[in-house]
Amino acid sequence: MNGRTDTGVVPVQLWRRRLLLPLTMGLGYYLGAVLGVAASAMSEGIAIFWLPNGILLAALLLAPRRDWPLYLLAAVAAEIAADFPTFTVAQALGFAAVNLFECLLAAGLLQRVARPFALDRLRHVALFGLVLVPASGLAALLGAAIYSLSVPTTTSFWDFWTIWWLGDGMGVLLVTPLVLGWLQGPRRQLERRHTLEATALLALTLLLTIWVFSQVATDSFPRRPFLLFPLPLWAAVRFGVRGAASIVLLFAAIAITATLNDVGPLLAYTPADTVLLLQGYLAVLAFSSLALAALVQELRTTHDELDRLNRGLEARVEARTQELRRANLLLEELASIDSLTGASNRRHFLEQARIEISRAKRLGLPLSVIMLDIDFFKSINDRFGHEIGDKALIALAATIHATLRGGDIFARVGGEEFIVMLPGQKLSDALQMAERLRLLIEQNEVPGCPVRTTVSAGVAALENEVEGIDDLLRRADRGLYRAKNGGRNQVCLERIVSSDAPADI
Ligand code: GH3
Ligand code: MG
Ligand code: MG
Repeated sequence: MNGRTDTGVVPVQLWRRRLLLPLTMGLGYYLGAVLGVAASAMSEGIAIFWLPNGILLAALLLAPRRDWPLYLLAAVAAEIAADFPTFTVAQALGFAAVNLFECLLAAGLLQRVARPFALDRLRHVALFGLVLVPASGLAALLGAAIYSLSVPTTTSFWDFWTIWWLGDGMGVLLVTPLVLGWLQGPRRQLERRHTLEATALLALTLLLTIWVFSQVATDSFPRRPFLLFPLPLWAAVRFGVRGAASIVLLFAAIAITATLNDVGPLLAYTPADTVLLLQGYLAVLAFSSLALAALVQELRTTHDELDRLNRGLEARVEARTQELRRANLLLEELASIDSLTGASNRRHFLEQARIEISRAKRLGLPLSVIMLDIDFFKSINDRFGHEIGDKALIALAATIHATLRGGDIFARVGGEEFIVMLPGQKLSDALQMAERLRLLIEQNEVPGCPVRTTVSAGVAALENEVEGIDDLLRRADRGLYRAKNGGRNQVCLERIVSSDAPADI
């Protein structure tokens, strides 16, 4: 036993599909047929609005093809039950065959040209109309033939044919969109304001339709049937195929009841003309509101789709912009940072240094620089290789990085030459820091390098208002030169020689 059978999901669905739905359709077919015969039949028993075919066609359009025989079987049973005892079983079987032929032809053709068939597209509504005319027309030929041959009547074959044709066509036009509209498509919960609007529309339709169709010949104010046209159009625009089909059915029920009771504005000179007028009126109303509902739905779908695409596009543009922003930041970083040591490069250092110097001058704050150069670095490269030389550079940069405070600027300005700018620090602080760095570097062990690296350093501080970055670096460089000449691995400070006011050390 498998899990699906255990839970009972498959059998329940199968039972629903194979039994419940065909039976429900059969019941609908039966009720439609009884209604057709009782409420809208001519004296010979031919219905002027034959609703069952609309129910069967909707069922065939909704059901998978392998289930079609079940629906056809249910329709035959319903037809025999509804026709009895007015017609013989043979006649009922004949009518059933005609109706089945019509529905199978229409469903087959529609599914061939438009699959999946749904009335929310204008093209499908047009095809629905185009298929309906010949399908019901052909069926009417067969139906009229059965009538003419088996029922004693004075009505001519072609009159039978016309009434049957239009009756079948009208029945399908009224019922199939209603069933498809309600059973197809998304099940949306109506918002409160929509419920109010739907109620208002329904109430207005009832009142106005009853008012128009209760007109009697002596009325002085002509209650024209075209006055009602805005109602199904309103339903179509606001409530789609569902709304339009429901309102039209309500219309049809009132109009047919009134007209068959000889009231209303659609009474012609002969009963046959009256029937044709009523059928024509309702056909135009039903088809135009159906087409409008489909058109509006199509526009809405296109609009939603465009909206969705637009939002997708905006999201993609936003993502790209973020990517570009990140790439720009990375580029900026790459353009300002020395890749081997992670220190700033010369260009970036000069940019930052100019900003810091002008700030220090503006705020009257001290600022100093330490210029460091590795001693005998060439010989490290020569003796232990360039790779070890690189490691020494990396280790030295890491040591300096670890000693910096926020706001300090550290840059590699030459092969083995570094600068540390210390905004807010006076010469004595810089000197102390340089000494600390020198000691740390001297103690540092570089992996793979058997000798210790040492540095010489020149220290200088901003001493007056006119000094710029070039002057400051030149002095620090002079200090470094003296440190080298003095035997290396030492720190030398360099001040302005002719300064009137000596720097505060
Ligand atoms: P001094 O004590 O006088 O500064 O002697 P020095 O050997 O350190 O100075 P010199 O200017 O003669 O040599 C600098 C050496 O630095 C030369 C060059 O091979 C090396 N160098 C420059 N850039 C790099 C680098 O990125 N990696 C490595 N491994 N070596 C570099
Ligand atoms: Mg050197
Ligand atoms: Mg050098």
